[in-house]
Amino acid sequence: MADKVAWPMPNISAANRPHWAAAKNHKLTYQQCLDCGSWIYPIAPMCQACWSERFEWRPVSGEGKISSWIVVRRAFHPAFQNEIPYVVAEVDLAEGIRVLAPVVNIEPEQLRASLPVRARFMDRSDDVSLLQFEPAKPA
Ligand SMILES: [Zn+2]
Repeated sequence: MADKVAWPMPNISAANRPHWAAAKNHKLTYQQCLDCGSWIYPIAPMCQACWSERFEWRPVSGEGKISSWIVVRRAFHPAFQNEIPYVVAEVDLAEGIRVLAPVVNIEPEQLRASLPVRARFMDRSDDVSLLQFEPAKPA
């Protein structure tokens, strides 16, 4: 039954379309300010550091370390009923961007702060591939 419930999907807009187009190709990209070099995250029309509106979408390594996490044991959306328990972590990317995403291919008991992880993508539809992380080395 839960498999028949549609997953909540991102709202793809002109502002974030480059991010999702890259994700579809399993590339992780974020905006980088052309004036001060800051990474712009979350996606925004201007740099939060210097207010410049000049930026480019640039690839990031996808490598990072877990800074914090939760284990979700209750489905807050019916589409996730078959996913629980699952892990959502705060990951500090090597570029200094802190992102939230699920972590897969690890048991919750194996999680620890500073665990090295790398980005991977789950193809969810023809248009959407979702960011996930997994341990950089097999657990
Ligand atoms: Zn800037």
